[in-house]
Amino acid sequence: MHKVIAPIGLFLAVASASGGVIAAGAHQHGVALLTVAAEDNRLELELSAPLESLVGFEHEPRNEKERKAVQAMKDSFRKPETLFAPSAAAQCTATPAEVELPGGDTKDGHADMHAAVMFECKTPAALKNLEVMLFDAFPRLQRLKVQLVASGKQSGMELTRQKRRLAW
Ligand SMILES: [Zn+2]
Repeated sequence: MHKVIAPIGLFLAVASASGGVIAAGAHQHGVALLTVAAEDNRLELELSAPLESLVGFEHEPRNEKERKAVQAMKDSFRKPETLFAPSAAAQCTATPAEVELPGGDTKDGHADMHAAVMFECKTPAALKNLEVMLFDAFPRLQRLKVQLVASGKQSGMELTRQKRRLAW
């Protein structure tokens, strides 16, 4: 179940080099972590979120309703352009996201999901912002702690249900 997703290692390295802004093990319902890296013609996104904030529970699905909730969440990440909108002028297209879910028993009854999304952009010079629609897809989500790496600089910021746009 622990499939290695190449970009995660890269992002963790970036995060820890900055002093561990995205600390492993941080788990607060309603709050997710998002790393955004714009480099060359690529925009790479790495999301780490409490499962509770996406599907409403953190145990293995126990019934049809819960199985459907997990499936719907995975399906939405297969169409990353419905969750994230990079600058239109950059003409970015997404590859379906890799979603990693915890398997088996989860520690302390809490569980995080991880997703890695990559966009490739035809006009990367025009890539200057990112609109995040996760709040529409997942009403339980309240805040996103963002680590942004763009133009050779790294910065931290926060998005909320009212403020959904990153610019650099
Ligand atoms: Zn939890």
